[in-house]
Amino acid sequence: MIGLTILGATGSIGKNTLAVIRQNPERFRIQALTANSNVTEMLTQCLEFKPCYAVMLNDVAAAALAQQLKSLNCATEVLSGMDALCQVAALDNTDMVMAAIVGAAGLMPTLAAVRAGKRILLANKEALVMSGALFMAEVKASGAELLPVDSEHNAIFQAMPLAVQTNLGFCDLVAEGVSKILLTGSGGPFRYSEIADLAAVTPAQACAHPNWSMGQKISVDSATMMNKGLEYIEAKWLFNADEAQIQVVIHPQSVIHSMVQYTDGSVVAQMGEPNMCTPIAHAMAYPQRIPAGVKPLDFFEMGELTFLKPDYARYPCLKLAIDACHQGQAATTTLNAANEMAVDAFLTGQIGFTDIARVNGTVLDGMTVSEPDNIDALVDIDAMARIDAQQTINRVET
Ligand code: NAD
Ligand code: MG
Repeated sequence: MIGLTILGATGSIGKNTLAVIRQNPERFRIQALTANSNVTEMLTQCLEFKPCYAVMLNDVAAAALAQQLKSLNCATEVLSGMDALCQVAALDNTDMVMAAIVGAAGLMPTLAAVRAGKRILLANKEALVMSGALFMAEVKASGAELLPVDSEHNAIFQAMPLAVQTNLGFCDLVAEGVSKILLTGSGGPFRYSEIADLAAVTPAQACAHPNWSMGQKISVDSATMMNKGLEYIEAKWLFNADEAQIQVVIHPQSVIHSMVQYTDGSVVAQMGEPNMCTPIAHAMAYPQRIPAGVKPLDFFEMGELTFLKPDYARYPCLKLAIDACHQGQAATTTLNAANEMAVDAFLTGQIGFTDIARVNGTVLDGMTVSEPDNIDALVDIDAMARIDAQQTINRVET
């Protein structure tokens, strides 16, 4: 049986991963589950999947979990803190690690799994956005196997030739006859809203994604299309693509999950229901296929598929991310950190929806750091950007 550690087990991707395991109980066993602080959900998961370890980032939550597991005679060992998260990502009995912590917090545990040479099922796009070149170099050095779970990147991966699939980060798209990656996105809930009305939208409206059910942070990122910007950066690193090789296409129905265009005029698309269990199951079983519990796509129910060009006046965050991508890693790390702070401030009512792009732009404009050449330098840039973002948020608020 394949041993799996899930980083971020209590989140949207974590729960979908467990749903795929329920479909394939003879194939996978859970070695460790981790979460930030949700004791109730973690307790339920431990009782069902009986992992060797459960890790809570938060000490108080870990103590509460340990006490409840003990009273229910569950043998799962409870650990806490960032070091423990990194430790269970690198356990000998773990073959695969689902990297599904949200945000920069996922970087060190995901890197721990990379350094231990595991198969990494990568959902935590922010880790790659921050550390791009360094991350891919570590994957190569350790012999870890990287499989993209983000639905677009999983779709692109599926539409790529084997030579690309087996050499992520270092592949030569031109030599493989690839002319373009067509990165699709729905455009989020405000695709057809008046731009003038966006300043007043609420967190609940921003989180009501038309096609996908996801965690709060990525839902807001989808509404600003920062998510597509982060995915643009993610695609650059995974597929070793340059500016001319990635194009963002708005596709409101989310049936096509992304496409690859070849020099002979062919376009290969991956399609399916908008359900993350499909890319998760693909990454878990690659190169085989397993049931994911997803209903088959019904072409007669589907209706029309449409495509639009992104409008940067509606989606300024998308433009900021594409520009940062071409500027370098200091810029992408700064933007990612500012955006995490700005989204949090929006969700807690401190700033408005359109202030997210304003905060991100201001922090990027004020950036003075040079290119990082190691992970510690990246972490410092992330911390500095958070301080700048907080100051900018305070100014917007008052
Ligand atoms: P979520 O908010 O639903 O879950 C996040 C998980 O991370 C939870 O288990 C939480 O306990 C844990 N976590 C949060 N902060 C933490 C911290 N500081 N330290 C340790 N653990 C922490 O998020 P999600 O929607 O499942 O997204 C997870 C990642 O996957 C994100 O990077 C997101 O961009 C990516 N992703 C998600 C989807 C989706 O459909 N939800 C699709 C593609 C990519
Ligand atoms: Mg995606």
